[in-house]
Amino acid sequence: MKIAVLPGDGIGPEIVAQAVKVLKALKLNIDMTEAPIGGAGYESAGDPLPDATLKLAKEADAVLLGAVGDWKYDKLERHLRPERGLLRIRKELNLFANLRPALLYPELASASTLKPEVVSGLDIMIVRELTGDIYFGQPRGISTLENGEREGINTMRYSESEIRRIGRVAFDIAMKRNKRVCSVDKANVLETTELWRQVMIKLSSEYPEVELSHMYVDNAAMQLIRAPKQFDVMVTGNIFGDILSDEASMLTGSIGMLPSASIDANNKGMYEPSHGSAPDIAGKDVANPLATILSVAMMLHYTFNDEANAQKIEHAVKSALVLGCRTADIWTEGCKKVGCNEMGDVVASALN
Ligand code: NAD
Repeated sequence: MKIAVLPGDGIGPEIVAQAVKVLKALKLNIDMTEAPIGGAGYESAGDPLPDATLKLAKEADAVLLGAVGDWKYDKLERHLRPERGLLRIRKELNLFANLRPALLYPELASASTLKPEVVSGLDIMIVRELTGDIYFGQPRGISTLENGEREGINTMRYSESEIRRIGRVAFDIAMKRNKRVCSVDKANVLETTELWRQVMIKLSSEYPEVELSHMYVDNAAMQLIRAPKQFDVMVTGNIFGDILSDEASMLTGSIGMLPSASIDANNKGMYEPSHGSAPDIAGKDVANPLATILSVAMMLHYTFNDEANAQKIEHAVKSALVLGCRTADIWTEGCKKVGCNEMGDVVASALN
């Protein structure tokens, strides 16, 4: 197994160190090589995605990423900003499917801002398209009109084949779960998503066992808060998925609990927590490393097909929670507050 380890910025290095610790404790035959990305890439090579980092990522079977970004880079030209490195690596590796499970551990039911009865038992898989949509569509940019006023343009765009391949991922995952797919669009207003809906309906005929439903994105945002347990698999485009998956993260208590996988057509993947680089808490040993550790479990599951070790990690995370260990973001009265490093130690030792 060849893994490219890209810690990135902010809390990235701290949380990735815990995930690496857990992987090493499994004593697998893994070759891990580290490289800079994001702000760290800009600092070391003047590029948020240095050529050497991209080469390493292309040659690896999987990529473990921390997070990128810091407000201090906001004044850089757009193509030099950390987030461009992230968008580029996803595009270069053709990681078109982003899987974000939102699963509530019963031990954390009281850490959610929603009532325990609304979220307890929650288990949603959000499948977000990652390489298309308004984030990549051309034309884009800011131009000056004849009257001197400036105008910003982005283009929402999806081809039938792009919609079909992300739809397939969602239907395949639903077949292994509760066989329900909710496709989220804005087909009443946006033609791009009208096509999205038509393609999903056509594709569903190949999956007669899966129940397909449709929901407008504004309603989906509301339903996720009102009655989130109604969902099994949600599939949606890049921008809607970006927003809905962050919303879903709060159902689980903290964004620090949510792993993610971004995979290509051959199950090569990049695995990263759903959150950002949290510059406000970087370097303080308070970040929650569980989303990153759970991302490694997803890596073992989706890229390496190693279900036994993936489950070992998931059980070890659960054990740490059952023991009452909590980082600050999920801490409640009566639990033991631990730092990022200690949480990594507890999970690693719970593996055995
Ligand atoms: P963020 O996810 O970094 O932080 C949002 C809030 O959640 C903050 O209060 C932070 O302290 C908290 N938080 C996040 N992860 C946590 C963890 N593991 N444990 C405990 N608390 C955690 O989002 P933001 O503040 O909007 O963005 C900060 C930077 O991250 C920006 O530069 C942004 O561009 C970047 N970003 C990167 C990614 C990525 O690398 N995939 C995703 C989103 C944002």
